[in-house]
Amino acid sequence: MTKSESACSATISQFRPTLTGPIHSKYSLVCTGCFATYYDDRLKCNSDSALLRAKYSSRQLMLKDVPGMGKFHDWLPVNEIITSDSGPITYKSTELAAELGLNNLYISFNGYWPERGAFIKTCSFKELEAFPTIQKLKNTGRSLVLASAGNTARAFAHVAGMTGVKVYIVVPESGMSRMWLPEEPTDFIHLIQMGKNCDYTDSIHLAERLSSLPGMLAEGGARNVARRDGMGTVMLDAAFYMKQMPDHYFQAIGSGTGGIAAWEASLRLLEDGRFGSRLPRLHLAQNLPFAPMYHAWEAGRREILKDIDMPDPKKLIHEMYADILSNREPPYSIGGGVYDALCSTGGMMYGISNSEAKAAQQLFERYEGIDIFPPAGVAVASLIEAVNSQKIDAEKHILLNITGGGVKRLEMDYSPHRIEPAAYAENAHVPLEEIITKKVLADGKPRAKGR
Ligand SMILES: *Cc1c(COP(=O)(O)O)cnc(C)c1O
Ligand SMILES: [Zn+2]
Repeated sequence: MTKSESACSATISQFRPTLTGPIHSKYSLVCTGCFATYYDDRLKCNSDSALLRAKYSSRQLMLKDVPGMGKFHDWLPVNEIITSDSGPITYKSTELAAELGLNNLYISFNGYWPERGAFIKTCSFKELEAFPTIQKLKNTGRSLVLASAGNTARAFAHVAGMTGVKVYIVVPESGMSRMWLPEEPTDFIHLIQMGKNCDYTDSIHLAERLSSLPGMLAEGGARNVARRDGMGTVMLDAAFYMKQMPDHYFQAIGSGTGGIAAWEASLRLLEDGRFGSRLPRLHLAQNLPFAPMYHAWEAGRREILKDIDMPDPKKLIHEMYADILSNREPPYSIGGGVYDALCSTGGMMYGISNSEAKAAQQLFERYEGIDIFPPAGVAVASLIEAVNSQKIDAEKHILLNITGGGVKRLEMDYSPHRIEPAAYAENAHVPLEEIITKKVLADGKPRAKGR
C-alpha cells in the first residue's frame, strides 16, 4: 500500500493527460492505481494497469424525475438522460426476512416483476450495464463487440436493437438457450455461436480479435466505467430507499464487476454525506466447484493461482449449477478490482455448492413469490450461510442483490423470440473472414474516428 502510494505521487506530478477524445465536464476518469486524471473516454491508464474510475462533478446525487435507471443520471457517464422504465428496484422483505430471523432485509430485484415496479425485460442486472454503454456509442457510427455466456448478450442485444446500434455478440454454445428477447430481434444484432468445447473465456478471446477490426469497439468488460456505474445504481437505489447505505451487501459473482460497482457506488455515497459514514461490507459468493476468487481470497492471496484455484477449469465449469458465474480471468488482482473492494470494505467470500444454491433458490421463490436465476440462488445461499454462522446481526441493514429473475413472470406477458446465430466459430482462433462476411465488414466501417 505505502509502496504504491509513493509510486503514485511521483506519477501524478509527472503526468500530463493527453486530450484525444470528447471533453466533457460531467466527469473525469481517475486511475485507482496512480490517481492520474483523464478527461477523455478511455479504458486504460497510460502508466499502469489499474482500473479507471469516474469522478463526477456532482458530489451529491440529485434524482431526476424519470422512471428507471435514468434517475441516477448525475452519476452515470452519459450526457443524455436514459429514458427507459428499466432499472433496479428495492423493497423490504417480510417473508424471507422472517424465515431467516432478519429485521432489516432489503432486496434489490433486477428482473421482470411488474407488481413491484420491476421492468427489466431481459431479466438480469446486465441491462443496467447495457443502457449507459450503448448510450455512449449511439452517435459514433461504431459497432459494439462483446462476449457473453447469456445474460449480457440478451441485455446488449435488447438495448442495441432499441437504440439502433450494431452489436456483435460472441456466445459459447452453452449460452445459446439463453438467447431470446422479449421482442422480435432486429438486424442490428449479430450473434456468433462458438463450438462445443468453448467456454465463456474462449468467447472473450474471439471477441477481442473481432474488436480489432475497423469500426468495431470492445465494450471493455470491467474496465468500462459505463458498465460499472450502471450496475452501481443497485446500491444507489437501495440507499435512497433505505435512507442509508446497507451494512452488508450480498451478491453472487463470476467476474465480480458488480461487486466492484457496489463498492464504488458506496464510496460516492460516502462522499455525498447523506447516507452514513461506513462502507457496506461486501459478501461475494461463487458457485463451487469453480470458485477461483473464493479460493484465492480464502488463501489470503491477491493473485489467482491457476493450478491451485482453478485446476481443469472446463471440467469444473461443466459441473456448476450457476454456470454463468464462470469467468477464468476475473478482475480480481487488478488495482481497484475485487481484491481491493473486499479489503476496503472488510468483505468476505463464500463458496456455495450446487445443492445449497438450488435449495436457496427454491426457498426464495417460495417466500418472496417470484422466480429467480441460479446465480441469485447462490447469493441467497451465501446470506443463509452468513446467518447460520452468525456473521451478521439480525438488526443490521442487509441488501441482497437478486441479480436476475422474473423470466417465468415475463412469459405470462410476452412470448420470447429466439435470436438466431449469424455465424459459427469452432474456436477462438478461426480466421475472422469465416465468421464476418465482407458485407458485414463494409457495414461496420467507421463514419467518424476516435471515441
Ligand atoms: C453476470 C451475472 C452475475 C455476476 O455478476 P458479476 O458481478 O459481473 O460477476 C450474477 N448474476 C447474474 C444473473 C448475472 O447475469
Ligand atoms: Zn494509473
